Amino acid sequence: MVAERVVLVINSGSSTLKYQLVEPDSGISRAAGVIDQIGEQSSVADHDAALRMAFARLTEAGLDPSSVAPAAVGHRVVHGGNDFYRPTLVDDALLAKLRELSPLAPLHNPPAILGIEVARTLLPDIPHVAVFDTAFFHDLPATAATYAIDRRLAQTWHIRRYGFHGISHQYVSQQAAAFVGRPVEDLNQIVLHLGNGASASAVLGGRPIETSMGLTPMEGLVMGTRSGDVDPGVISYLWRAAKMSVDDIESMLNHCSGVFGLSGERDFRRLHDLIESGDVAAQLAYDVFIHRLRKYIGAYVAVLQRTDVLSFTAGIGENDVAVRRDALTGLSALGIELDERRNADPHPGVRRISADSSPTTVLVVPTNEELAIARDCVQLI
Ligand code: ADP
Repeated sequence: MVAERVVLVINSGSSTLKYQLVEPDSGISRAAGVIDQIGEQSSVADHDAALRMAFARLTEAGLDPSSVAPAAVGHRVVHGGNDFYRPTLVDDALLAKLRELSPLAPLHNPPAILGIEVARTLLPDIPHVAVFDTAFFHDLPATAATYAIDRRLAQTWHIRRYGFHGISHQYVSQQAAAFVGRPVEDLNQIVLHLGNGASASAVLGGRPIETSMGLTPMEGLVMGTRSGDVDPGVISYLWRAAKMSVDDIESMLNHCSGVFGLSGERDFRRLHDLIESGDVAAQLAYDVFIHRLRKYIGAYVAVLQRTDVLSFTAGIGENDVAVRRDALTGLSALGIELDERRNADPHPGVRRISADSSPTTVLVVPTNEELAIARDCVQLI
């Protein structure tokens, strides 16, 4: 029997590094782990140390990356800018171009670049592939991709709505189509990716026509620590009146906003505990999160005109029964009818949570970005 090939997938976020050895053909994960709080006190110093720790853990588990000889190392890169969207073989020229793109994604691209550099020194003889989180949204219709700002400025500075979480939105929309047993080309879908980062997309016949994140992963839904939509006037007002620097404002919008900014808690499990205990700020944070989510659902139903499937995914979307219920309550006029009993069933895997009579099929679809990245890698090489 020929041994299954494996791909090592590395996802370096701003303060976390996730790694996984995955078989792209069977989908089996041989090993996976997360190193978090990178750069924080009493933890790993930086992404270099984090990646070395990941390799040490794999070796301890009998899966030394050099001996396992993965077919490729797949790296998730958040922002591909205008030029990069297809999975791309990493070389020095690509790294140089990615560095140029860093101002577009200052919190996300530098750690990914560092992760690629270190992984290349640790595994120099294996192809490294960059997979872009913006790829799925590259051909977003101009009506959805365009900000109504000065056209020339936008052109000069490549300001458009890029969209993120594309690896997940694409994977989930394909899984959803397979589950309902219809070709993805025939389906109008809404995908709600609700994790620490959160985004929505409207997918028509397999191609996205709208998504909630924009130039950066800050736009759109309320997130764990990110604000989502705010009036741009807030930024100039804080700059002028509170004398905050642009960096401080950006950091506040990214790290001290969202559900955390409103309640002091970003994890929805603990947020529910706080609400139970009568915490008014936690209740408001939850309500603002739900309100924004419902606004987007309504908007995307209008954009699609007919919604066949609506899927929840990621940490909150896959696990939080209350969020799914509160997001969809009272939407039968839009064709969305949840089945409370199915919604509360914690059965893992893809599952339907809408009523049989619901014109829109509502699903919970576990995302698997690592598997999607691994499959992109082997397709390229
Ligand atoms: P990311 O990949 O963006 O870090 P995840 O998709 O892993 O995020 O989602 C993480 C979030 O999911 C947690 O911060 C928490 O709010 C939420 N979450 C995870 N498990 C549960 C659960 N059982 N119930 C409610 N929320 C959950």
